[in-house]
Amino acid sequence: MNPQAITITLLMITAGSLICSIILWRMLTAQNNKAQAAYATHRKEHKTILSKSKAERRDLKLVLNAFDDALIITNASGIIQVANEATKILCEGRELRGKSITSAFLNDEICKHIAEAILNNEAQKQNILLTETNFGQKNAVEDSAWIIDYAPLPVSDITENTEPPLHRVILRNVTTEHRTDQIKREFVANASHELRTPLAIISGYLENLIDDDVVDSPATARRLLATMRKHSERIALLIEEMLIISKLESGESAQLASEPFLLNNTITTVIERLSPVIQNQHAIITTGFDPKLIHLTGDAFYWEQALFNIIENALKQNTKSPVHISISARELNGQLTIEVSDNGKGIPSAHLPYIFNRFYRVQKHHSQNEVKGTGLGLSIVKHAIEAHGGTITATSKPGINTTFTINVTNSSPSLN
Ligand code: ADP
Repeated sequence: MNPQAITITLLMITAGSLICSIILWRMLTAQNNKAQAAYATHRKEHKTILSKSKAERRDLKLVLNAFDDALIITNASGIIQVANEATKILCEGRELRGKSITSAFLNDEICKHIAEAILNNEAQKQNILLTETNFGQKNAVEDSAWIIDYAPLPVSDITENTEPPLHRVILRNVTTEHRTDQIKREFVANASHELRTPLAIISGYLENLIDDDVVDSPATARRLLATMRKHSERIALLIEEMLIISKLESGESAQLASEPFLLNNTITTVIERLSPVIQNQHAIITTGFDPKLIHLTGDAFYWEQALFNIIENALKQNTKSPVHISISARELNGQLTIEVSDNGKGIPSAHLPYIFNRFYRVQKHHSQNEVKGTGLGLSIVKHAIEAHGGTITATSKPGINTTFTINVTNSSPSLN
């Protein structure tokens, strides 16, 4: 082969390999691009799935934590798989996932009931009353009422058929409802008892009156009739006071009048209404006010009722020797303080926490000489003051000083 032919052959080989390389390179690049595109699509899909499941997890968390009730899901051995925020609050903020029921809830009775429910593996609701515990209470050690609502979860919905079933437990705090029911029951029992006593007396006296001998003796008949009237007045007073309490408690307090009135006038009216008793008992009443007229906005009827009850109590509890009652009212930066003090027999400290309860009386007997009253007066006072956004407290050093203090924000300007 001559050198020219060799050169041409070499050139052709070089050109051929160059073309092959270019074709190969282009094929590889195309493949690489395709792979990159596929990778990008995959990444995008992965990202979408991830953000979707993140959003789903967040939604699920939101739903779980929207419940006020504690909700837990456990496995068959009672190990917590899911717990919402309300459960954590009950367990002092500890992480509960992976913990057993017994180590999560620091109350033996609650643990026992949940463990039993899981063991029975049948949907059930149980009412539990815990006595004197701080479980689920903010500060105090008190009785609390709970509903444990248990159900096994349907296997196919959540887990594979092969996995052991999960259990759902809802723990609901029903202490408020329990207390309301208790108060209602006590109210009905007390009201019936208080009404039954004067009714029994009236019906006994009626029987006596039917007796001919009594009819022949007008003096005896008059005495019996007077006693019957006294007890029928007591029934009327009880009913009237129960109606006021039920009105104040039934949310009608929201419909209390909101009108401007002068507190000074209300106190003067109360003193005037009580003046026969004041004079009869030679009681001394002193009033001390800011040197300005106190304008209040609220329901003047209930303010008068409240102040009447407090001042009447100071009088009727201290009939033996002349009592000194002082009534004062002062206002500072829109805060109004009204104080009614007396130097009478007072309230023993053991009774003080209960005097605002319905039907609570320090002297409980129903003798002829008893101090008149129903035990509802201070309960009405408390409701009426609270309906105006205020508070009332009582302190007492028997024989020295018994003071009822009302505090309320006064939005009305007081004039000099
Ligand atoms: P009552 O109808 O018996 O007066 P209240 O609810 O008004 O009922 O008062 C409850 C109890 O508080 C009274 O029975 C009385 O024992 C006691 N109490 C209230 N105010 C006084 C006071 N100023 N001095 C002594 N005891 C008082």
